[in-house]
Amino acid sequence: MTRAIDTVRTVGDLRARVAAWRKAGETVALVPTMGAIHDGHLSLVKLAKTLADRVVTSLFVNPLQFGPREDFHAYPRDETRDAEVLAKAGSDLLYAPGADEMYPSGFSTRVHVGDLTEDLCGASRPNHFDGVATVVAKLLLQCAPDKAIFGEKDYQQLLVIKRFVRDLNIPVEIVGGAIVRETDGLALSSRNTYLSPAERKTAPLLHETIQQVAADLAQGRGADDASEAARFKLEAAGFCVDYVAVRDPETLAPLHGPVTDARVLAAVHLGKTRLIDNVPTPRAR
Ligand code: AMP
Repeated sequence: MTRAIDTVRTVGDLRARVAAWRKAGETVALVPTMGAIHDGHLSLVKLAKTLADRVVTSLFVNPLQFGPREDFHAYPRDETRDAEVLAKAGSDLLYAPGADEMYPSGFSTRVHVGDLTEDLCGASRPNHFDGVATVVAKLLLQCAPDKAIFGEKDYQQLLVIKRFVRDLNIPVEIVGGAIVRETDGLALSSRNTYLSPAERKTAPLLHETIQQVAADLAQGRGADDASEAARFKLEAAGFCVDYVAVRDPETLAPLHGPVTDARVLAAVHLGKTRLIDNVPTPRAR
């Protein structure tokens, strides 16, 4: 079967392709993914196309960011389909390295971002953000793009990436892309395929509930009060709530009392599926 998009699997081949574009005076954007491409990923590719001449999409299911009891082995993988939809969306190149290319024998370095990674998803997924920061740092150094695009869906991750890029003086601009949702509000995620039909019906309540928190904050309700009410509502609907939190949109510092500029973030389990979502308060960015 003819592949729908040029694919490279080694750092050397990736750099050769990027070098050729650079020689022609073209700029490059990178969209990192773990595959199982959906419209959320494709929106980032489309955004990337407006920001650079060439778009590289990477596909690597990064073992370093999964905990021992998480879904690394079950994570959906379909590179052939991914290649086709990425080509259609206008990505110029797929970079799909194997685990040996990314983590050769003896690999022993980690990028650790302090502060921002200590709570929210960092609390329930120890080492997750070290795994993310390490692989994203490698992808940025391997591809050396002008811009790299990440979704606001993983809001804490976006801030972690911005932080280490700044701290380590990596010469790239990190750009955030808006969350793409189903018509009922559920944020698109590769993990939504794990939901049973009954769970899928319940799942949009997560977005609805954090939207309500944001609306409550805009009406002057205290942050702790609003997030506690949300936790109660979600638990009553059958979610197992990891957190519902009202945070500073830049530093993720906890906010209490009445607030205007905040991000409402939540993580829950619905059956065996972990879902995350976040929204700004109406007056926030
Ligand atoms: P993943 O393959 O889940 O690692 O995601 C790859 C990139 O796509 C990350 O930057 C995610 O934040 C982003 N992404 C995932 N879901 C969505 C969504 N529903 N809307 C926008 N971006 C998303």
